[in-house]
Amino acid sequence: MADSLPDHESLLAAAEEGVDFDGFVLERTDDGTYALETPEARETTLEEGELERALESIPAFVSNWRYWDAIGGEGTARRTFLRWCERAPIADATTEGQTLGDEPLEVPERHDALEEGIVREWGQLRIAVRLADGGEGERRYELRHVDDADRAREELERREDPRDARELSTYDEEGRYRPLKTAPTLRSGWVLPDLTGRALVEAVDFFYPATIANWHRERRGELDVDHWLETAERQTGIYDVIDELPREAVDWMAEACCVDSQCLRRREWEYDDDDALEAPGGDGPFPCREPCSLVVAAARKWAILESEAERTYELELTTSELNQLAELIDAVADGRTDEIREADVNDGANRYRARYLRAKRFDENGGLEATKRE
Ligand code: SF4
Repeated sequence: MADSLPDHESLLAAAEEGVDFDGFVLERTDDGTYALETPEARETTLEEGELERALESIPAFVSNWRYWDAIGGEGTARRTFLRWCERAPIADATTEGQTLGDEPLEVPERHDALEEGIVREWGQLRIAVRLADGGEGERRYELRHVDDADRAREELERREDPRDARELSTYDEEGRYRPLKTAPTLRSGWVLPDLTGRALVEAVDFFYPATIANWHRERRGELDVDHWLETAERQTGIYDVIDELPREAVDWMAEACCVDSQCLRRREWEYDDDDALEAPGGDGPFPCREPCSLVVAAARKWAILESEAERTYELELTTSELNQLAELIDAVADGRTDEIREADVNDGANRYRARYLRAKRFDENGGLEATKRE
């Protein structure tokens, strides 16, 4: 992508058909001269030599045309994404249901901003795009974790190959496998410093599969959403049971798995087309169009658990112990247990507090001492 930018001759050839791109208009007129227009000026009856000088006076427009002509792929997801990266206007955008982010930049100010570098965030990825050396309009993209925004490049583990993203996204900071690629657990400390547009799109696709394609479909109003009920009903084999999950349990499930603290995709699927879930869908830039395999697998477990009848139990607890059970559940659900210091015995989820409760309230079978009421 943009390996070689079109030269002056290519621009003249394009002018035969007429160039009209990002405020840069160039056309060959019937008398064999050229008409050139930018938002600031319009010149007509330019002979070739005059045109060359006129083009040299507007390098930002010319180099912008060159880069995007080389990128090609009008209307494709990769081109739209690369334009979003540098805040270029996007012709095919709809405004419904999308996070537009910052206002687009027109060519002169975008060119100036690209000299410094334009930064975008895509989930936990920080994308910085700048003009490459040489003044031809070529771009270079740097990709790193958002948490590393202020770190010097030399401090980060340098990677060159976009396919390294697959390895970088497999395990979290603690070395645990990440079953959900869009969970906000991407490890930091690395940098892909010098990517072409093609390599950037490839790397982002490894980090967050299909997010660019679905974001692009959404922008065009073409996102095909599969809601819970239709997804559940088409399951077979061991997942056949998930359509038995009660309606309210689907809400609990979405709250458990799909909120921003657990997944960076913005959930667009609901229970059904005309039955929205109460759990928030999230604010991320890229949408989730159907329940993922992780949610489907978890739903199977919940469908089995929810098929059990509720019973009443009697067990003895002090009020503080009852509150402690709530604190324990909260700490586990929010992934906070590692943060609770051993010395902090005021926290109900403190390890010593939990061990004490177990020693006091568990029976010889290793469960809470409770009596089932008939
Ligand atoms: S179903 Fe939920 S957890 Fe799975 S990708 Fe979509 S939003 Fe994320």
